[in-house]
Amino acid sequence: MLRNDQLEKWDRENFFHPSTHLAEFARGNLPHRVVTGGSGCHIEDRDGNRLLDAFAGLYCVNVGYGRPEIAEAIAEQAKELAYYHAYVGHGTEASITLAQMVLDRAPDNMSKVYFGLSGSDANETNVKLIWYYNNILGRPEKKKIISRWRGYHGSGLMTGSLTGLDLFHKKFDLPLAQVIHTEAPYYFRRADQTQSEAQFVAHCVAELEALIEREGADTIAAFIGEPVLGTGGIVPPPAGYWPAIQDVLDKHDILLVADEVVTGFGRLGSMFGSDHYGMKPDLITIAKGLTSAYAPLSGSIVSDKMWKVLEQGTDENGPIGHGWTYSAHPIGAAAGVANLRLIDELNLVQNASEVGTYLNDTMQAALGDHPNVGEVRGEGMLCAVEFVADKGSRTFFDASQTIGAQIAGKLLEQDSVIARAMPQGDILGFAPPFCLTRDEADQVVGATLRAVTAVLD
Ligand code: PLP
Repeated sequence: MLRNDQLEKWDRENFFHPSTHLAEFARGNLPHRVVTGGSGCHIEDRDGNRLLDAFAGLYCVNVGYGRPEIAEAIAEQAKELAYYHAYVGHGTEASITLAQMVLDRAPDNMSKVYFGLSGSDANETNVKLIWYYNNILGRPEKKKIISRWRGYHGSGLMTGSLTGLDLFHKKFDLPLAQVIHTEAPYYFRRADQTQSEAQFVAHCVAELEALIEREGADTIAAFIGEPVLGTGGIVPPPAGYWPAIQDVLDKHDILLVADEVVTGFGRLGSMFGSDHYGMKPDLITIAKGLTSAYAPLSGSIVSDKMWKVLEQGTDENGPIGHGWTYSAHPIGAAAGVANLRLIDELNLVQNASEVGTYLNDTMQAALGDHPNVGEVRGEGMLCAVEFVADKGSRTFFDASQTIGAQIAGKLLEQDSVIARAMPQGDILGFAPPFCLTRDEADQVVGATLRAVTAVLD
């Protein structure tokens, strides 16, 4: 095995890390870590550290690390048939079985699953399907997509445009013109402090209506949203938000894309966030939890309503001009089948609900009254703590103080617990594997309190 210093040199010289301050990393001012193993909710690194991963990688290792059932399914598939494409009617037992399993779990009125590789490419597929759909229906002007500020939908050209976070636009010439953004359903950060939750929902609806009015409903094809805002701050919607938004979309014949890359397959303590919040999507984006990240695989679940038009489109125009070499890759599909079976066998959705509620409640009890904690919030196995400089006036810290990042750093340094400093605001995010135990939840909460005390008191 290579010595760490040699690997570190190669790492800093050769490896382009995503979402990283490139110059600081190259200069050696940012830590590097070589991750070597994992089991349950823990990962290990080459220096012998064992860390409690309270963010499940990037909220994706939902069944936890080191599951032999999935590793063996991948190995079996690789030995039997590592690859064949899925074009013009080809498939494998794994990809066909997985499509069936996904639809069994999906909300009503869903028809087919297209498999890709990442959440970003699945949303790219969704936008193409929406444009194709409106062209087939003879509405070539109805093409714009509404997304929310603070939404996260990927980092490609179109999907980075859908994402409503500054960092993903700045200096990349994004967002593209076809994408327009509306108010985030972020009650804690509402501009008008006097608004009740119901008034704030009415405000979000009014903002959406005004945007549609300005642009013209006949130019707007779809609205995309995560059931719970994820990377934008882990923010569950205010009560009644989704039914109210759904009414507006129905009224103007605007499609709904539920981006369930984080929430799909159990993270909210129910199989899909769409069912959890009464959304009626026309397309659903899935990725992360589909394979628990044991292999890259994503999907676009297409509703009956859209599917009929896609079929009509191919009758009129020939085969659909969309597909990737690795669409429905057999190894990813095998991982997906084994993963969804394991989630059922171990009752992990229920555990996400029960232990997730326990995590949120104990976090609230431990930190809710801290003078610099503005809000503890979450749903299922998602939890966030948002920090403020002054609680009474709800004044936020200056971004240059990097409070969120400092607390995440302290948590790691003092107690070997990984949480994520969310990219916009001083928000500490938790999204542990679904197999988290109550003891582990206690460790996460205790460590968070110690880190907050060390940085802020
Ligand atoms: N959509 C949501 C809601 C996400 O959280 C993410 C990634 O975090 C994506 C899409 C993009 O997925 P990927 O990083 O696999 O491209």
